[in-house]
Amino acid sequence: MSSTSGPPGAGAGALELAAAVRSGARTARSVVEEHLERIASREGDVHAFNEVTSAEAVEAADAVDAAVREGRDPGPLAGVPVALKDNLCTRGVPTTCSSRILEGWRPPYDATVVSLVRAAGGVPIGKTNLDEFAMGSSTENSAFGPTRNPHDLGRVPGGSSGGSAAAVAAGFAPLSLGSDTGGSIRQPAALCGVVGLKPTYGRVSRYGLVAFASSLDQVGPFAGSVADAALLYDAIGGHDAHDSTSIPRAFEPTSPELGLGADGLRVGVISEMLDGSLAPGPDVARRVSAAAEALAAAGAKVDEVSVPAANYGLSAYYLIAPAEASSNLARFDGVRYGLRVDAPTTGEMQRASRTAGFGPEVKRRIMLGTYALSAGYYDAYYGKALRVRTLIVADFAAAYERFDVLLSPTSPTTAFEIGAKSDDPLTMYLNDVYTIPSNLAGHPAVSVPFGVGDDGLPVGVQLLGPALSEGTLLRSAAVLEEAAP
Ligand code: GLN
Repeated sequence: MSSTSGPPGAGAGALELAAAVRSGARTARSVVEEHLERIASREGDVHAFNEVTSAEAVEAADAVDAAVREGRDPGPLAGVPVALKDNLCTRGVPTTCSSRILEGWRPPYDATVVSLVRAAGGVPIGKTNLDEFAMGSSTENSAFGPTRNPHDLGRVPGGSSGGSAAAVAAGFAPLSLGSDTGGSIRQPAALCGVVGLKPTYGRVSRYGLVAFASSLDQVGPFAGSVADAALLYDAIGGHDAHDSTSIPRAFEPTSPELGLGADGLRVGVISEMLDGSLAPGPDVARRVSAAAEALAAAGAKVDEVSVPAANYGLSAYYLIAPAEASSNLARFDGVRYGLRVDAPTTGEMQRASRTAGFGPEVKRRIMLGTYALSAGYYDAYYGKALRVRTLIVADFAAAYERFDVLLSPTSPTTAFEIGAKSDDPLTMYLNDVYTIPSNLAGHPAVSVPFGVGDDGLPVGVQLLGPALSEGTLLRSAAVLEEAAP
């Protein structure tokens, strides 16, 4: 069953809607109701959400309208519906991470990014589906069933933030938030034909993001356009005293840089990510070459660059991320959160709760990580992976001496069929081979749609930059958006 029904996402962009609401030309209430209607008509097919928070959204919209009536500016996201990945804490609203183990849990506080969305006048509209605890690349590892790609309901939306990507692609919300530990914003953005930005590690607060791998996790925006992605990023970026890894430095908004073009920009096409053992499908490779040509036509100086250690990113990631996950997920013990399966002793209760509460991929990661950290194996696995991570940082540093921005595919293929890779974890892991290196380095990267593959489905290309280069990345992405077929 693969019914193709086109990029559904039609509807006004966030910038346009916020301008209309701020000026009083439209009410936030009407904007929210329009999006709730779209959700009602197609959510049954797409399943982007774990929960649509309609009542709260209407209430928030009314507060925005009241502000406008009273002559107060509600902020840059005035009345814009924003879908939130369901691993972001929302006060009083279930936050499940698409896992049974969090069943019934309602956080007593909002994640900082959620508070910032509200403070900017944005309207949270629901919690989006994900791979359980953000572990996966297809949103099939959800305890609540898969999300489907709005471009072709027989295919995956990518993952783990598949619900957030699909929500924007389907027009359910002009903006959404996801989290990216190894590619979970960029890869679904590519597969759903939307823009997705993973910011620099520490630039967006992770306070209230349920941790997967704390040295890699980062929150970031999805949007239908580069300008809309910049709008949301500018609203959520900056230092947060609640997150000890947050960068204590003033935030520079990216939106003012968007029109600067690519003239004189030095762009390196990562050779390891275009040919050799990591080569993408030929149709994806052609789109990357076309993107390089488009940047050159806009005045960029384009050349090839080698980032040799990128070859080992995937292997290092699958030791570091599970190691951190095995530690982070120890807190789900049947006592502190959600699900408890009773048993005669505490130990048996914990075992029963975790056995019933976690799905197979989460259990696999916990076991891999515990093994990688165990005495006797620590040096050979975890220690070695950390050394590879250092090599990756050094190789990127060398590349950024010669280039401002690097270019690669986001994902090896377009969206694959639901079920095609779910029995083969290794094949699934390969989806993130181009996205993982930036997480290991802590650098920002953006995926921007750039045409379609042989099957007519969206292809995304990835732009990578050094720490805090979000402005340059979004500005380059805007050039590609302009040139996209
Ligand atoms: N797909 C990768 C994984 O399964 C990355 C996930 C993510 O970025 N959250 O770990």
